[in-house]
Amino acid sequence: MNGSLDEKLEPIYQEVLHRNAGETEFHQSVHGVLETLGPVLVKYPEFAELKIIQRICEPERQIIFRVPWQDDKGELHINRAFRVQFNSALGPYKGGMRFHPSVYLGIIKFLGFSQVFKNALTGLPIGGGKGGSDFDPKGRSDSEIMRFCQSLMTEMYRHIGEYTDVPAGDIGVGQREVGYLFGQYKRLTNRFEAGVFTGKGLDWGGSRARTEATGYGAIFFTQEMLKARNDSLEGKRVIISGAGNVAIHATEKAQQLGARVIACSDSRGVILDEDGLDLDLVRQIKERERGPISAYAERKKGAKYSENGSIWEIPCDVALPCATQNELTGKDAKVLVENGCIAVAEGANMPVTPEGIQTFREAGIAFGPGKAANAGGVATSALEMQQNASRDSWTFEYTEARLQEIMANIHRTCHETAEEYGAPGNYTVGANIAGFVKVARAMEAMGHI
Ligand code: NAP
Repeated sequence: MNGSLDEKLEPIYQEVLHRNAGETEFHQSVHGVLETLGPVLVKYPEFAELKIIQRICEPERQIIFRVPWQDDKGELHINRAFRVQFNSALGPYKGGMRFHPSVYLGIIKFLGFSQVFKNALTGLPIGGGKGGSDFDPKGRSDSEIMRFCQSLMTEMYRHIGEYTDVPAGDIGVGQREVGYLFGQYKRLTNRFEAGVFTGKGLDWGGSRARTEATGYGAIFFTQEMLKARNDSLEGKRVIISGAGNVAIHATEKAQQLGARVIACSDSRGVILDEDGLDLDLVRQIKERERGPISAYAERKKGAKYSENGSIWEIPCDVALPCATQNELTGKDAKVLVENGCIAVAEGANMPVTPEGIQTFREAGIAFGPGKAANAGGVATSALEMQQNASRDSWTFEYTEARLQEIMANIHRTCHETAEEYGAPGNYTVGANIAGFVKVARAMEAMGHI
């Protein structure tokens, strides 16, 4: 890891390493938070006495279970699934489900840990959790996906509920999967408990603007960072990694605000289109055909595809990593800085390595950490829960306006907290401290639990 830890925090971190051996992504996310908390313990010495940090690093509950399912040929497969209920000091556990072959406990715990602070930052009453499975949905038929989701929910249903734990989507889990998961929950419990899952379809309890929210929110946050520097997105060259839910909607909002998005990617390669991406074509390939992004260059004149290429070598003003963790390294960050990039916001969770973050900080680039920049998704999930609780359905415009206001508030909170703790302009410090203090105060009030 990069930065050094305060002497009170180093032993806590060593204990986390010892108790969670081999979970490197979890170690990285814990270190990223602890390295900013030194000044908090000076201001609130009671948090150390109450062992709030040790408690916050230990999930309240971790559930690991077997998911057997049959493919279309009748062959049986066994996957492993997880639900980590990290912290419920502010509300029910809340966080998505990820289906990807790389999933193991360390990834779910890093995501769940970050989610605790992110959810606190939204100002909404939600705790933090995360789940997923090492199931690979690529190349699977709809029936196979349905059988897998039903088998998973046959165990998970007993651990979740609108007042307990409210899952949503993440990598590999979109509206199709949420439909199968929610359907099986409804069948098993005999309850139409809409608030148990977010990211639902509009006809069955979903919220308008939820699908768009993470990507739109990342752009609203970027806009706020630029505004704080008397700048805007208008006319900027933007590159956005990924071609999934977050990347597609970040592209859409950036284009609406007058930016030129010239590149995107998927797990196989990178597309460069100097004329500006044709988003309808990206959606056709990735959302409807569920194919590789290379198909874009075959259909769009002038576009270039590079297999296994690095998107970060493309000169740009603004870079938005929106695919996966640790996709932008220290080396990539140096190239971006040399090419004149002025702002980076994490649409994905922990996409920039610690070395990358340090490079951006040293270069004075505006850097929006995921806990703040991609909080729009979970914030709108909480708005979906509000609509479910009141059996209401808001318009797109109203919901988007709420999202925009929430992102501006998160930006303001991070900005002001960073200044208060002597690190002006450092949104990582601002996001970690503001999120942590809110959760810590609630934990203090609730006693030794
Ligand atoms: P998604 O719809 O499944 O899209 C993921 C995209 O990233 C795809 O284009 C995928 O390529 C690419 N990708 C996945 N794993 C990769 C890898 N190991 N290497 C390179 N590319 C990879 O997922 P999403 O919902 O957009 O989520 C993207 C990121 O945003 C994740 O970090 C997620 O945790 C975070 N996030 C999502 C939400 C939300 O509301 N969805 C909210 C907050 C944060 P292929 O198409 O080739 O698979």
